[in-house]
Amino acid sequence: MPPEEDPVRACPETVGAALAWARTRLRAAGVPDAGVDARVLLRGVTDLDAAAIIARPEQALDPEARTRYADAIGRRETREPVAHILGVREFWGLMLEVSPATLIPRPDTETLVEAALARVTDRRARLRVLDLGTGTGAILLALLHEMPRAEGLGTDVSADAVALARRNAARHGLGPRARFAVADWFDGLDGTFDLIVSNPPYIAGGDIAGLEPDVAVHEPAAALDGGTDGLDAYRRIALAALGHLAPAGTLLVEIGEGQAPAVTEIFAAAGLETVAIAADLAGIDRVIAARAKKELGNPCMPR
Ligand code: GLN
Repeated sequence: MPPEEDPVRACPETVGAALAWARTRLRAAGVPDAGVDARVLLRGVTDLDAAAIIARPEQALDPEARTRYADAIGRRETREPVAHILGVREFWGLMLEVSPATLIPRPDTETLVEAALARVTDRRARLRVLDLGTGTGAILLALLHEMPRAEGLGTDVSADAVALARRNAARHGLGPRARFAVADWFDGLDGTFDLIVSNPPYIAGGDIAGLEPDVAVHEPAAALDGGTDGLDAYRRIALAALGHLAPAGTLLVEIGEGQAPAVTEIFAAAGLETVAIAADLAGIDRVIAARAKKELGNPCMPR
């Protein structure tokens, strides 16, 4: 290929020029946050930190770094997610391995972790946590990280996801308190849990093709597709949640924009009373917390 089309040779030599070059390329490819991605990828492929990148635009990049950066920018131009290019993504302060087998952890989902912790009166209690559709393990690992004596089970229909989540648990020393299993929602699970959490697929099937290509093409449909109306997973969860909630246990699920009334209704029909709705940083209702309806509970058990 002619030199001007060879992305490696096209990458300029200094930090400032390389960033400007990358930003222009990503913008032309329709990448929404071209400037942010250019900086994050440069940090990811070099040992430069954020301050060095801003403070010293004139510093030179060595040829290997320019090659790696050009390769990363070339991948991002095809709308491959930044997290897939770098192989990691931070969630709740924990650096997690990611792969195309699961959804990339999103900041929105930290709202679920926060809401779950808000329901816990004693973080040192020996609570049992179940994370349905655990993916990278992000939610479960964040909760176990905050609750030093809690134990958790993460399930996923994808065996690749389960293997990934196990590696992430080991990476943060949480392996002894985190078990993972291949399962379809509650199928085959025994026992009760103090917290049941899930970020299930909630996009209406017909809407997936219209999402950004980063998501629609590069993230697994099984982690996104919530059926015709996007609510199938909540129906599956509602069916069996009551049987797996400890007497004072709480179920917390992430929801899509505008889904709070419908999910509240699905839960109510299954004997689950919505006790809190939490909004994300954009002010969108993002999490529903529910418990067994009082009149259905065991009157001998305090709650
Ligand atoms: N928040 C994701 C998105 O809109 C969807 C996550 C999900 O379906 N659980 O890209």
